Amino acid sequence: MKKEVRVRFAPSPTGPLHIGGVRTALYNYLFAKKNNGKFILRIEDTDSSRFVEGAQQYIEESFQWCGISFDESPKLGGEYGSYIQSERTELYNKYIQNLLDTGNAYYAFDTPEELDELRKEYEKENRFFSYNSQERKKLKNSLNLNQEQVSKLLEEQVPYVIRFKIPENRNLVLNDIIRGTFSVDTNTLDDKVLMKADGIPTYHFANVVDDYLMKISHVIRGEEWLPSLPLHTLLYESFGWESPTFAHLPLILKPIGNGKLSKRDGDKFGFPVFPFEWKDEKTGEISQGYREQGYFADAFLNMLALLGWTPSEDKEILTLEQMIQEFDLEKVHKSGAHFNIEKTKWINKEYLQKKSTDELLKIYQKYLKNISVDTSNADRQIVEILKERVHFVHEIYQEGFFFYEQPKTLEEKSYKKVWKEDTAEIISEFLLALDNVEWNQNDIKNAITEYSKQKEIGLGRIMAPLRLLLVGEMKGPDVPVIMEILGKNEVIARIEKQIK
Ligand code: GLU
Repeated sequence: MKKEVRVRFAPSPTGPLHIGGVRTALYNYLFAKKNNGKFILRIEDTDSSRFVEGAQQYIEESFQWCGISFDESPKLGGEYGSYIQSERTELYNKYIQNLLDTGNAYYAFDTPEELDELRKEYEKENRFFSYNSQERKKLKNSLNLNQEQVSKLLEEQVPYVIRFKIPENRNLVLNDIIRGTFSVDTNTLDDKVLMKADGIPTYHFANVVDDYLMKISHVIRGEEWLPSLPLHTLLYESFGWESPTFAHLPLILKPIGNGKLSKRDGDKFGFPVFPFEWKDEKTGEISQGYREQGYFADAFLNMLALLGWTPSEDKEILTLEQMIQEFDLEKVHKSGAHFNIEKTKWINKEYLQKKSTDELLKIYQKYLKNISVDTSNADRQIVEILKERVHFVHEIYQEGFFFYEQPKTLEEKSYKKVWKEDTAEIISEFLLALDNVEWNQNDIKNAITEYSKQKEIGLGRIMAPLRLLLVGEMKGPDVPVIMEILGKNEVIARIEKQIK
């Protein structure tokens, strides 16, 4: 029988969720859905020194906004809970005892100060100290002390950590769906701490135990965890557990140059690296998010999906449903993908064009309220006319602000270009011609054409000054369209006022 697909996203609540994390979660989600599997959220909060208040809520809200749902999570619960590691500490004791009993782990009584001292001595000789299979033979641990000595130290409650005993002289073969097969000499590995002096497990230990207990079939995570793969593989082996299948995802890189995309890059180039706003309670610093900048959640996900994976036929715009159909872990790239803000905006624009006017109108009117601009009956028409020009809903207002307020001044350069000696007269006379016109763009356009013929002047001699008077500068949609939306009274009022 094929094993049930169960994957997890396992963030540590150490701050806001980086978009790289959202992409990791998205790939897990796509993979789970594609394979009729389960997607689990597990909070890895064993490192209390890095715990940040509010981070877990932030993580949960991010996925809510994106429309990525879990099958099991701290909120939803599930058969394998708790889904928060700090609520599982009891459980880890049993498993660490198992490793001690089988000789795969050992007590280490070296104090942090002693180890620091050693590190410094090594540095002086330009060597690097690592608690590994060679060094451990000389250190204060249960591999070297006899049973009696160890018992005494434990009785006296001398602080200790529990370390993993890396097997010596082995060529460890590792498998990864994306990276392929590679091997590591175990002598290059160090004996990582599995249990800290305070009895709290480290990431490595809790992560492996939980993946096993939660029946995780595939571990899909960021490339930064690839160096942990040998240790994790050995841990599974020591327990006699079948290890899950691993897939390490490529990094999201800076827009230019090498290296992981950081918050600093975002600040430098002016784009967010978080799904939505985050306030750092310590510094008071507020980091912008995609949500506040006017990105649609579905466009945001679509953009992230393409950072590391190319759907068939190079399709670029895909619904979540289509992504699920298409997703293939084997097709995830090996090398990192450069983040591209222009492309990100373009994707949002593509989504915007496809949204219904109703949906856009709702967002648009909410935005108007936020900036204290009164909504109007013409909002719907304004949205319809301007939506193809913008990347974001709020830009509709930037493109069409003149529908809401009279221009205070006329842009100087355009004025000089457009305004001729006889312009005031032409326009004033034209106003009279508007008297009997049915107020819609076609009839307005006909009236302008007729008037230009009658006066034997080019259309531009009328259109350009009209635009300038109504808008204040030479921008916006067709003049008859602007006139229709503004309404007859407003058009006449604006023109008369300006001409005066
Ligand atoms: N807690 C780890 C993190 O913060 C999880 C790594 C993993 O998925 O194994 O990314």
